[in-house]
Amino acid sequence: MIRLHDTMVREKRPFVPLNSQRITMYVCGPTVYGRAHIGNARPAVVFDTLARLIRHTYGENSLVYARNVTDVDDKIIASAEAEGVDPSVITERYERFYLEDMGALGVAPPTIAPHATQEIGPMIAMIERLVGLGHAYEAEGHVLFSVPSDPDYGVLSRRDRDAMVAGARVEVAPYKRDPADFVLWKPSTGGVIGWDSPWGRGRPGWHIECSAMIQAHLGETIDIHGGGLDLIFPHHENEIAQSRCAHSGVPLARYWVHNGFVDMGSEKMSKSLGNIVTPAELLEKGHRGETLRLALLSAHYRQPLAWTDEAVAQSKATLDRWYRIIAAFWDAYQEYLDVGSKPAVLEALSDDLNTPQAITVLNQQLTALSLTRIPGATIRHGDREVSSEEAQAELIPTIKSSARLLGILQGSPIDWFQGGDEAGAIEAKIVERAEAKKNRDFATADRIRDELRAEGILLEDSASGTTWRRE
Ligand SMILES: [Zn+2]
Repeated sequence: MIRLHDTMVREKRPFVPLNSQRITMYVCGPTVYGRAHIGNARPAVVFDTLARLIRHTYGENSLVYARNVTDVDDKIIASAEAEGVDPSVITERYERFYLEDMGALGVAPPTIAPHATQEIGPMIAMIERLVGLGHAYEAEGHVLFSVPSDPDYGVLSRRDRDAMVAGARVEVAPYKRDPADFVLWKPSTGGVIGWDSPWGRGRPGWHIECSAMIQAHLGETIDIHGGGLDLIFPHHENEIAQSRCAHSGVPLARYWVHNGFVDMGSEKMSKSLGNIVTPAELLEKGHRGETLRLALLSAHYRQPLAWTDEAVAQSKATLDRWYRIIAAFWDAYQEYLDVGSKPAVLEALSDDLNTPQAITVLNQQLTALSLTRIPGATIRHGDREVSSEEAQAELIPTIKSSARLLGILQGSPIDWFQGGDEAGAIEAKIVERAEAKKNRDFATADRIRDELRAEGILLEDSASGTTWRRE
């Protein structure tokens, strides 16, 4: 049983999907006009991990995960004007970068990635419906949602009216009936990107995009709506108001899941503060995507995550250690299948995606595996004494399935240590030699041993693997 913290009720509660054969999750995706930073990467990694957990629990095809691409927005228009290109040049470029950067962090593409510019029809239809029901009105080429028309407005953020008006950073606009009203549609003049609508040529506001795409692709009520903490107000509050008012009071989402910020020093990492670090530049510096993913998962998703060089170095050291242990058992590691085994980290992840606890458990499992290197030794496993071989047979499958759930340790130790430090390079050679021996390529195996000996490194074979020492 998965338990999730639901922002709507401010507590953890059991996750019970409406239909466990078709669980629906929507996460607000990127506005594609610049390179994603680590703060943007956090929800991508967090909800990728949640998607893995749901698929493990309910079945590979149980989840429809939608993450939108906002490809019409005033910041995109400004970037396009600055470069003197069509907005699509900007959006295609940065969507490609986004997918590359997230791919490097082990984030699988969502099931559906609806693009705002491809969904203008459903947005106009929803706005027309809201106007018809008296929840929206036209004024000077704009269509605005009437906040006072929705008595339940504010249910997610629990803000009082003054905080709402101040927090919305509402532009002073003479055509608004109420300062809290927000834009559903706005006019496009001159060469600015736009579409024909009942209110003239224009473009959608940001909030309506998610409401309309959720309805079009997932339905009126979804299981999980996710995003960063900063989206609770006004974005998610506005999505709730639009969808509920357009759908006769049916709730938009059954669970609201929000991730915390990434902090740089004492400030939130944000483009407007100019203190961003991007996965692209960290990868460029030689860090692995896997290291960044582990660093992002090292804090609980609802807590703030302090992004420091030390945190990245710590994650790399952890992965070095884990890959070294796996390298020592590489033959067996490849042979054991994890199908049907219960991941050791399942309990921790099922408890509101407790990734720090999951990392601790995985570390304990790998440490226990490292102790089975002594052949014939008996190992304490749980409350039993078992032989090294028995312990390996139990530990390796649960380690493999745990690693898959967390989206780490998916490569071979050789790939990991390639270009790494000296000890890593030796471990990589040991794995390469074990593979050669397994393939009965003894010439290669002997060559590797001799090359290492020439560097003063002696290999010692035993029943449970190969160790090395300096001469
Ligand atoms: Zn959204």
